[in-house]
Amino acid sequence: MAYMITDDCSGCRMCVHECPNHAITETNTICVIDPEKCTECVGFYPESKCWMVCGTSAPVPDPEQRESREQLLEKFMRLNPGKKPT
Ligand code: SF4
Repeated sequence: MAYMITDDCSGCRMCVHECPNHAITETNTICVIDPEKCTECVGFYPESKCWMVCGTSAPVPDPEQRESREQLLEKFMRLNPGKKPT
């Protein structure tokens, strides 16, 4: 399940630099996650990095983007060819 960023985002942009998949872009007001690039950090970390670094708990699982762990791993492989999941 890809993450999304809610209106609780303060726009600090901390998550933009921490996302291992470069899935987060900044706008003038809040940050936005591309669900095609978000693996919920599967393959990189045991928990979602954007959620860990966010001071307002703005990143949350997107109920519109339900994916199994296997699907997230496939996405990780597609986005990071040659890299082994940790
Ligand atoms: Fe990036 Fe991980 Fe947040 Fe998805 S959950 S946007 S991969 S930091």
